[in-house]
Amino acid sequence: MKDRIEKLALFGGVPAFPEKLHVGRPNLGDREQFLARVNGMFDRNWLTNNGPLVEEFEQKLATMLGVRHCIALCNATVALEITTRALDLQGEVIVPSFTFVATAHALQWQGITPVFCDIDPLTHTIDPACVEKMITPRTTGIVGVHLWGRPCNIESLQEIADRKNLKLMFDAAHAFGCSHRGKMIGNFGQAEVFSFHATKFFNSFEGSIVATNYDGLAEKIRLMKNFGFSGYDNVVYIGTNGKMTEICAAMGLTGLESLDKVIETNRRNYHNYGKELDDVPGVRPVVYDESEKCNFQYVVFEVDEEEAGISRDLLVEVLQAENVMARRYFYPGCHRMEPYRSYFPHSHLLLPNTEMLVTKVISLPSGTAVGGDEISTICRIIRTAVTCSGKLPAVGAPTK
Ligand SMILES: *Cc1c(COP(=O)(O)O)cnc(C)c1O
Repeated sequence: MKDRIEKLALFGGVPAFPEKLHVGRPNLGDREQFLARVNGMFDRNWLTNNGPLVEEFEQKLATMLGVRHCIALCNATVALEITTRALDLQGEVIVPSFTFVATAHALQWQGITPVFCDIDPLTHTIDPACVEKMITPRTTGIVGVHLWGRPCNIESLQEIADRKNLKLMFDAAHAFGCSHRGKMIGNFGQAEVFSFHATKFFNSFEGSIVATNYDGLAEKIRLMKNFGFSGYDNVVYIGTNGKMTEICAAMGLTGLESLDKVIETNRRNYHNYGKELDDVPGVRPVVYDESEKCNFQYVVFEVDEEEAGISRDLLVEVLQAENVMARRYFYPGCHRMEPYRSYFPHSHLLLPNTEMLVTKVISLPSGTAVGGDEISTICRIIRTAVTCSGKLPAVGAPTK
């Protein structure tokens, strides 16, 4: 393997970057501000259990999103689990397969069957027409995923949910700071779940908020994330430990102060990639609706092997040989991962667009760790790989 990677390196066998450039390198806020908050935390000696930093974080986010309730949690996976429970989802829930596996796991972990649904090949989000076909008497809900921060077809999904009496919630892990028809993501369905994991463009080390405009649901989630405690000795639900710590809230609050700057950097990076790769055949960017608020955190391209003359997989190998750690998000699709592959061995037959996109999509490094020069070099590698594609060894070919 090492041989092969060295052979793939295009510039004299030396990687174009001496150190690895990763997708999802953390964007850090102001260190002094963060440390000042941490000092305050130590002075108060209040580390977790709904401290003042968590409360401030929740309030700031509720204001920013224009939503009635934001509940801070330890991570988005637990937040998805708690939200599905609070919504009383059971039986079958319809989800896209083209997402991070946590969307499916959060359901399966609750004993709910994730029913994988195909996506619209243009938007990469769950296709409402397919949702309709997947509904059975056991279906209780739909979990849409705003993939790459691009909102689902929310109106159609809500219409189906209303007509079929289903709950609708969203995995909004990618969509913090994005809007849909002028309204911030966080206001749609029964609830929306954001992730603030370190690899997301905005982080609280680990963390999440559930945003909802439903008072009863918010109250239930608050109780469930704290073991179901309602007062000192009174437990009213089965609950778990889903609390956010004060130090995570300190990180989140600090990150909020540079959020606009990070988005601006992401936007610039995204457009730089777009311009530099504009004339490269078969390499097409995922586009955003720039009349809406958008976080531009993912720089995603679709590689059309026929046009580009190079497969997505080989392009990823070439980039990685140059220390550009491009990723095949979300390959191979949840339906091809365990346990789902064994549970539903034929599900790929119902997912033609997912099957097609998992072979085409490539995610490139962005965020504050990447500047214009790096992007130029990355694009030069891609251009060279496409131009010389015929001369590269095929994936899996012997390297000697
Ligand atoms: C990151 C991510 C999650 C999980 O978030 P965590 O906070 O790491 O648990 C869930 N869904 C999607 C689509 C994600 O990208």
